[in-house]
Amino acid sequence: MPFKEIAGHARVVTLLSNAIARETLPPAMLFAGPAGVGKRRTAIAVAQALNCTAHNVSVKAATGMGADGCGTCSACVRIARGAHPDVLVVEPGDSGSIKIEQIRDVVDRSNYRPFEGRRRAVIVDRADAMGPEAQNALLKTLEEPPSATIFILVTSAPDTLLPTVLSRCSRMRFGALSADDVARVLVRDHEYDEKDARAAAADADGSVGRAIDASAIDVTEARDVAQKILALAARVSDPSRRLEGAKGLVPVKTPLAAERVYLAACLRSMASLLRDLGILAGQADTRLLANVDLQADLQHLTTTFDSRRSHRAFAAVDEALIALDQNVNPKVVTNWLVLQL
Ligand SMILES: [Zn+2]
Repeated sequence: MPFKEIAGHARVVTLLSNAIARETLPPAMLFAGPAGVGKRRTAIAVAQALNCTAHNVSVKAATGMGADGCGTCSACVRIARGAHPDVLVVEPGDSGSIKIEQIRDVVDRSNYRPFEGRRRAVIVDRADAMGPEAQNALLKTLEEPPSATIFILVTSAPDTLLPTVLSRCSRMRFGALSADDVARVLVRDHEYDEKDARAAAADADGSVGRAIDASAIDVTEARDVAQKILALAARVSDPSRRLEGAKGLVPVKTPLAAERVYLAACLRSMASLLRDLGILAGQADTRLLANVDLQADLQHLTTTFDSRRSHRAFAAVDEALIALDQNVNPKVVTNWLVLQL
């Protein structure tokens, strides 16, 4: 996937793209940032921009960027598929670690001229899975990389790497994606429909990977439940009627552990909704909304959930999450929360 298709990270992507166009790309780089935000994809895009055979000048002009791969020539396609002889990706095997032999192998191969591309790219994904031995095996090469090879270490835990390794790499910092970007990637690359993508993205802390993991539970349903509970609290103030109304709103899951996980998902959705209510009630920038698709419904809720009530409710949800974490029974947590909203 070329630079122009990378979601978010505009600053880093522009920097890389311009550096490639000017031939000033650092030979050893560290892509550091949260898991699931597109660091590896960006590393692949670097390899494509370096080796694209179309090298289309009009693409550069059209995007206003520096170099980029076309994404469709034979080189770009094979790089994306992991089948290009000059783009080597090292990643942990079944053992969960990157073995010293894997590093020795790419170090050996990096000493030869590229077979067909302009620059060889060695991408070490989850570089933190290298033990000290494997890192040391890489060290000398990072110090004096062969002229036709670049190294990209990708990690969400840069501080676990040896200081000697870190000091030899130019660090590119990747931040979390916006909820908007996460939703867009889920729809484009992971077959989500718009509504599910929105719900998953609102609760994913800017990580596509996390959104997908969380989808193991039905986040759309969890958000519906959260929304219904808020609507109930807005409509009914009498405590016993509220408790009565809340019965059956949270679906019963077995075993209890599943109920706990499910309720936690509902509560995180509720926190996200309350944050949005705070934004709407305070007439802040609506571009900050995580649940844009529910804006009309939420706007309606602000007639009872003003800023103060939203903030108070948000704090209660936070407490409920902590209680859940400390093994308080999910039903007890739900009942307590319903009365706090
Ligand atoms: Zn290409």
